[in-house]
Amino acid sequence: MSKNVSLEDIVSLAKRRGFVYQGSEVYGGLSGTWDYGPLGVVLKRNIMNLWWKMFVESRDDMYGVDAAILMNQKVWQASGHVDTFSDPLIDCRACNSRYRADHLLKDNVAKVWDFIEDTRKDYLEASKVYMPDAHWEDPDSVISPFISDATELPELLNAKISCPNCGKKDWGELRQFNMMFKTSIGPVADENSISYLRPETAQGIFTNFKNVVDSFYPDLPFGIGQQGKAFRNEISPRDFVFRSREFEQMEIEYFVHPDQWEKSFEMWRKLVWDWCEALGLPKGMVHELEVPENDRAHYSKRTIDFEFDFPIGKEELLGLAYRTDFDLSNIQRVSGKSMEYRPKGGGEAFVPHVIEPSFGLERAIMAVLTAAYTEDEVNDEKRVYLKLPVHLAPVKVAVSPLLKNKPELVEKARGVYSILKKEFGSVMWDDNGNIGKRYRRQDEIGTPYCVVIDFDTLENDTVTVRDRDTTEQTRVAISQLQAILQKER
Ligand code: ATP
Repeated sequence: MSKNVSLEDIVSLAKRRGFVYQGSEVYGGLSGTWDYGPLGVVLKRNIMNLWWKMFVESRDDMYGVDAAILMNQKVWQASGHVDTFSDPLIDCRACNSRYRADHLLKDNVAKVWDFIEDTRKDYLEASKVYMPDAHWEDPDSVISPFISDATELPELLNAKISCPNCGKKDWGELRQFNMMFKTSIGPVADENSISYLRPETAQGIFTNFKNVVDSFYPDLPFGIGQQGKAFRNEISPRDFVFRSREFEQMEIEYFVHPDQWEKSFEMWRKLVWDWCEALGLPKGMVHELEVPENDRAHYSKRTIDFEFDFPIGKEELLGLAYRTDFDLSNIQRVSGKSMEYRPKGGGEAFVPHVIEPSFGLERAIMAVLTAAYTEDEVNDEKRVYLKLPVHLAPVKVAVSPLLKNKPELVEKARGVYSILKKEFGSVMWDDNGNIGKRYRRQDEIGTPYCVVIDFDTLENDTVTVRDRDTTEQTRVAISQLQAILQKER
């Protein structure tokens, strides 16, 4: 189920209303980086806090950590990132433009099919045998054999696909490009000083597994959650915040007995759906993709990508993977320290296996904005509003005096404003322009309620409360206002 909203609609609203700006915009920008404005930062925190509350604070089997972004280089050697965390890169030799090869093929999947039919009559059947689990309606399954084959890819590209920049078909060789940002620690830059900006938050959890067990000795299964920045030198960052070079992840490693992984996997699968519901994402816009074996990360025995109908198409919102004991065993091997868990009631110690739900904050924000973006008509005029769930809205209530040049109205309104501000925090004072304009502005940023103080207020201590979604106004006593808004929260 896709929604009739374009990426441009979302990007322009986000910029106009102070949600998200291009990073370093004043100097011409820095590709793949984004700055959150006054409303964006609140929306972002509301989402992060909701996640923390739902998955850490409210559960007895979860612990939180906040690990350093810079880590010992051995972390990334042991995890395999130094050797294999790369994307396929291809150059156009005519104009030197660079592309992520899989994206280029995905954008031209019909031409990939043409190539298969023209030149590889037996290819499809053979591939079906080779990859019986593949979903042939899924473009990733069609293109992935070419991405892993360094000779076939240029042949396919040179036969069928033109450079999106210059229109020529003059492709170079397929190369692997490591996406980690390398840096060095301290004044002397040598082999020992190498470090990386972490490309995922997960390793900060694995490296603290033993610490948490030693401090708390939790029963298995239990999980550790972490939120924080991750950095990937994406070859071509694109589609607004969807593919950024610096972004925020919210990850959980849920440690289980190897015999019990399926039960925990199903539990997290259900919790992911609860999360999507709490974000206000319609069920019909979220899809599970069972990732076929040859498309999964090498350590994963099962992965479900949760996809969302973004304005750019159906794309990954978050992932749920069974990572086996890959990470803990690697840490044990490279560090020489035991990562075994000793069951409380006796029994043999073992290295726990892991279920990993991995959430990306930027993609959650983009999904929330897409789902909330709504157009309708009010008094024969087009209206744009964000139908955000109340608990995510950056501003909960806007308070206005009907006229800003009547001191008695302003004074009364200031009184109501400070009562609500104390109670709800995110309350906005708005006396700019006429009342209709204020409503439109608040609608566009998703404010659920607008409270207006007028001349009747001075007589009988009542105010109007206007509902964002229905545009209906009701008169309520100031003394009841907190209770009414509290109920809706
Ligand atoms: P993709 O295939 O789209 O590059 P991925 O499978 O590499 O994503 P993971 O490594 O599974 O992504 O990361 C977990 C989550 O982190 C993703 O589901 C996504 O929400 C988020 N994420 C990953 N890369 C980016 C990025 N460059 N920009 C924004 N969010 C990202």
